[in-house]
Amino acid sequence: MGSKFFLCYHDLSVKNAKQAVGQIRRIAQVANSPITVAVIPDVRQAPAADLDFFKGELQSLLQDGFELLLHGTRHLAVDSVDRNFWGKKALALTGNEAEFAGLDDCDSFRLLEQGMALWGTLGLDLPRGFVPPAWYGNAHLKEQVLCKFDFYEDRFAVYKKSQKILSPALSFAGLPKLSLNVAQTSACLALRSPVGTPRLVFHPVDFEAIGETRILNLTRFAVSKRKQIFYRDI
Ligand SMILES: [Zn+2]
Repeated sequence: MGSKFFLCYHDLSVKNAKQAVGQIRRIAQVANSPITVAVIPDVRQAPAADLDFFKGELQSLLQDGFELLLHGTRHLAVDSVDRNFWGKKALALTGNEAEFAGLDDCDSFRLLEQGMALWGTLGLDLPRGFVPPAWYGNAHLKEQVLCKFDFYEDRFAVYKKSQKILSPALSFAGLPKLSLNVAQTSACLALRSPVGTPRLVFHPVDFEAIGETRILNLTRFAVSKRKQIFYRDI
């Protein structure tokens, strides 16, 4: 089994932590390994008890060998910021989630710094990787991220400072209902083919859209075909 893949869960946040952590743990149980988790750092509106719970769960995920990635800032765009034509398109396609899409140099940098500052309030060391929400960046983001982090990723690749790893994101979030079956079949094909190092990525919404049974089956299939690796392994 020479080929590898990443196994990721996106969008863990203070708002969904109670449910999401259970989902993350069950995927890990089936994979027989900790996994990579992309975390939304904005806890500014959270009640103190929720914040304590969230921080505690992040600590215990780290202790158990899970790998955390910083995933945006609010995971929701602010209306007052200007963005280019493509950025506006990306916002329309993602229900405003693509907060980094089409930003200019300064706004992008400012938003990235905000995300890092919010991460700081969680009392954790900065993670090694950053993923923009819905994988939409802008002309400046990759370089800005790679000045501060070891890894950046878009929908097609994972980037290190001097390396690009071909890595199609196999993801189901945001897809129309009718295409979900096709997406699951293509995910299986991609995991079976020897090309690249795919990222199998689950989101909280997938647990409603395709259901936990299929998520766990896909995980089982993936670990039977490829060796799961972490960003820290590349
Ligand atoms: Zn996300």
